[in-house]
Amino acid sequence: MAEYSEDAHKHVEAYASVTKKLGWRQQGPLDKDIACDVCRPKSNGEPNVHGVDALFEFDCPYSERPRLVLVDGKQYKMDSIGGKSVFLKWMKDLARAVEHLNGSRQALLTDRAIPEEVPLDIGVIAWDCPDWDRKRAVKWMKTAGETTLRREPAVLLLLSTRDHLSRMLTISKFIEKHADVQFAFHREGRHLQWSSTVPPEAIHSHFLMARHRTDTGKLKVGALHFGHNASTIEARAIIHRFLSASPDFKRRHLWSTLPQAQASRLGEYIATECGRFSVPSTSIKVKHTPITLYQSR
Ligand SMILES: [Zn+2]
Repeated sequence: MAEYSEDAHKHVEAYASVTKKLGWRQQGPLDKDIACDVCRPKSNGEPNVHGVDALFEFDCPYSERPRLVLVDGKQYKMDSIGGKSVFLKWMKDLARAVEHLNGSRQALLTDRAIPEEVPLDIGVIAWDCPDWDRKRAVKWMKTAGETTLRREPAVLLLLSTRDHLSRMLTISKFIEKHADVQFAFHREGRHLQWSSTVPPEAIHSHFLMARHRTDTGKLKVGALHFGHNASTIEARAIIHRFLSASPDFKRRHLWSTLPQAQASRLGEYIATECGRFSVPSTSIKVKHTPITLYQSR
């Protein structure tokens, strides 16, 4: 099995350059080892190390604290890895690296200037896969999730494909294009929180609530959709929650990146639920993403 590209870190570099816009701060250089305090030292007394393709710190809108995410870049074709055993190994290795480096506070402090209170509990496999096959991968992931990932404290592992990289690009372009962009996050037992940081979990969500300021100073609220399926219960549930959590929302405009047909369905749904919104009245195209504007009555 060989990585298909000679420049195996191009994908991680692309990933790192996009994450800046999402509020992630790169900690230290790309592709550099960090010494591990948890692993047994080598026979010559040198500490064991874990390879770190990229390490980022971000202000987590869920916990309202800084957190770390470890990114492991892979450039393999689906066919070259063949089956779930390799995939399982990737996940096990990454979970172990996350756990061990979180326990290596001295190295994190001296190598990357990361204070002790900042936890590392997320690992991302940034997999650049030119022949990506969702069906096969889902089968592998299901087994991986069931067999390897019961850890205490919990480690969150995310598999990031080209799809996710393109989502991140879409989000970062949206941030560039608009003023004061913030995203909505729901913390258990709390009202909606707005944050300019997009945490790793949110990149793996099909639905991202956002707001931005217009030229006239008004806030516009809406949603970025990925996968374009407005008929899912998830999208409806989130919108419902969003509407009920934002009492001053009535006076604002709602926008959406759904294609026209689905946006209309969603508009009708919102109109029925809230009785405050008309069906879409304006549709504009921004690059390849159709944006539908809903106007409040
Ligand atoms: Zn270790």
